Amino acid sequence: MQDFFEGANSQNVPNQVIAEFNKGIQLWIKREDLLHPEVSGNKFRKLKYNLLEAKRRNFQSLLTFGGAHSNHIAATAAAGKLFNFKTIGIIRGEELESAVEKWSPTLKYARSCGMNLLFVSREEYRKKDSEEYIEKLKRKFGNFYLVPEGGTNDLAIQGCEEIINISDKQFDFICTSVGTGGTLAGIINSSSALQKVIGFSALKSDYLKDEISKMTNRENWELILDYHFEGYARVNKELIEFINDFSKKYKIILDPVYTGKLVFGIFDLIKKGHFPENSKILVIHTGGLQGIEGMNRLLKKKGLPQIVH
Ligand SMILES: *Cc1c(COP(=O)(O)O)cnc(C)c1O
Repeated sequence: MQDFFEGANSQNVPNQVIAEFNKGIQLWIKREDLLHPEVSGNKFRKLKYNLLEAKRRNFQSLLTFGGAHSNHIAATAAAGKLFNFKTIGIIRGEELESAVEKWSPTLKYARSCGMNLLFVSREEYRKKDSEEYIEKLKRKFGNFYLVPEGGTNDLAIQGCEEIINISDKQFDFICTSVGTGGTLAGIINSSSALQKVIGFSALKSDYLKDEISKMTNRENWELILDYHFEGYARVNKELIEFINDFSKKYKIILDPVYTGKLVFGIFDLIKKGHFPENSKILVIHTGGLQGIEGMNRLLKKKGLPQIVH
């Protein structure tokens, strides 16, 4: 397992230049989506030290939480299969229990990896951080290594510190998408003081900034809240068209929940003159492409254009 994680690390996820804009502004992208076909992007980084810890402590099972389209659920299921952990996914949405035909591609994939799926009501799901509830789950499933929703904890942040390496010192700005903020915190921790790290929130949230402040002591960062498109996993035609234009032009596929909104936001800020002359900007492609198929089904129902992938 150590070899797997170190090996993929040293494969040297490439930085590619995307485009040159006016005023000498350069935009580069770090292809973390290419880390591994199934344990992709930042979920690979977040699982690394957690899985090493689970193995070290001889856990047989991993348990975690997520929604029906969760990249974290998909990555945990895949990693469990690769490294012989039993995996248990507590999934928001009790109505899915008896309706396999409504399962998202993510849930079908997780099940195909052997993940044991437990569907719970929104009310029960909210107890995910309560010790009492975790004890109850242990009585049901036996002992397990607990990975929190979205995969963020101290070991996850440690893993995300490895996204940035020495050769990235040349960049003035590093931009990444934010869900829980664990990935952003890791990047901030390994950035240099002269770099500015910019998080683009994928959700509407008033407390996210405070949450991130708890995960890092550094101050060379900001959180942008203008590009969540009205909330988590919400999309509109403009965003889908942007994602499709981008992949046509640059041959890089973005996901609609995180990286699509991120890159949309960066392009908009460049246009609005947010970045100084000759800025070198690095955007992190954190993966998430497994969710496109599920999103396309929703788009089809709404009569919106599909994401080409
Ligand atoms: C989970 C995820 C994020 C958010 O990461 P956090 O560490 O929770 O902020 C960003 N991008 C993609 C593609 C993800 O799957």
